[in-house]
Amino acid sequence: MKKYLVVGAGFSGAVLANELVNNLDCQVEVIDERSHIGGNCYTERDKKTDVMVHIYGPHIFNTDRQDIWDYVNRFIEMVPFINRVKAVFNGTVYSMPVNLHTINQFFNKALSPTEAKEFLDSIADKSIDEPQNFEEQAMKFIGKDLYKAFFYGYTKKQWGCEPTELPAAILKRIPVRFNYNDNYYNNPLQGIPRNGFTEMFDKLLDHPNITVTLNRKFDSKEDVAGYDHVFFTGPLDQYFHYRYGRLSYRTVYFEKGYAEGDYQGNAVINYCNQEVPYTRVHEHKHFTPWEQHEGTVYFKEYSKETGEEDIPYYPKRLAGDKEKLHRYRSEAEALSNVSFLGRLATYRYMDMHHVIGEALDFSKAFLAAIAAGDRPPVFPNNEEK
Ligand code: UDP
Repeated sequence: MKKYLVVGAGFSGAVLANELVNNLDCQVEVIDERSHIGGNCYTERDKKTDVMVHIYGPHIFNTDRQDIWDYVNRFIEMVPFINRVKAVFNGTVYSMPVNLHTINQFFNKALSPTEAKEFLDSIADKSIDEPQNFEEQAMKFIGKDLYKAFFYGYTKKQWGCEPTELPAAILKRIPVRFNYNDNYYNNPLQGIPRNGFTEMFDKLLDHPNITVTLNRKFDSKEDVAGYDHVFFTGPLDQYFHYRYGRLSYRTVYFEKGYAEGDYQGNAVINYCNQEVPYTRVHEHKHFTPWEQHEGTVYFKEYSKETGEEDIPYYPKRLAGDKEKLHRYRSEAEALSNVSFLGRLATYRYMDMHHVIGEALDFSKAFLAAIAAGDRPPVFPNNEEK
């Protein structure tokens, strides 16, 4: 029987382990350095209020792929949920993402969709053809005023650098709409799990051929021997003991508060002014409107550079990172019995549905390679490098 090691019990590791034991006669050991499964998607009930808390920040599941939605719903019940975010700028509350309400409120107008489009066209920077960075993307599509109000300060706080240093792709995550639709996402399938995300990981990993060991840190110098293959979902640079230096990440940390009743009236409120030290405040009971809770728990979210002891969240992918990434990837490609997948091992900004989809595709590719006697893939093959 084949013996595999999966490092990391987040979505990549858990989906892969589940696919392996269901499609192959094998034994899978899953290890994680944390005291729980689920990675950054881990949820648990708050002891004081009983509210289901997304311990590592809010996770709203959204996808345009029916097969991924169905896959998730095989394990847990997703309750449809639309994330409607508010954004505060200079003491006024606006609707986010930028939509007709935001535009009309910000410019104190009552424009129709066509008028608003023409208006933004007239103030946007038309000299930019192909936006090369976050700032250019914003200037081209919404113009200076909306950019400075809602994106400049927030982005400096969130990423700790000038938006000109960041890829345009980060801004492309958020829609701009010329109607009153204030749904934060464009994806048609959106939900929050009725009993939290952790239940899904419990079920993915509940198999007689899977063992899970928590609180176990992995070291590639010692822990790869004895396995037919190792699947690593931790940070790529960590696997190689930071030989070429650290890839830069932003981390977030939270200040927790309690209140009676309703603290802010919404799940997420963004604070776009640079002078406000936090980026957003999330109040988790609003993610489960079907539950009743007298008390409430909320979190002010702060962002900073990832230190050695911090949890890496957002890959920055600055120019220097890309060089290092290239070197680490070359090292990885030279290994014969290790594969790398997921947000940290591929150093990409990925949503949950991307991670799940990629882990399913990767599992298929791995199983096909094994069956054909070919060399298993080292990285998922559908990623930008
Ligand atoms: N952003 C911003 N103002 C906002 C919301 C988002 O400037 O009110 C920028 C910020 O740079 C952020 C990016 O848009 O990193 C992507 O936002 P998203 O909500 O997708 O970030 P996530 O929820 O993944 O932290």
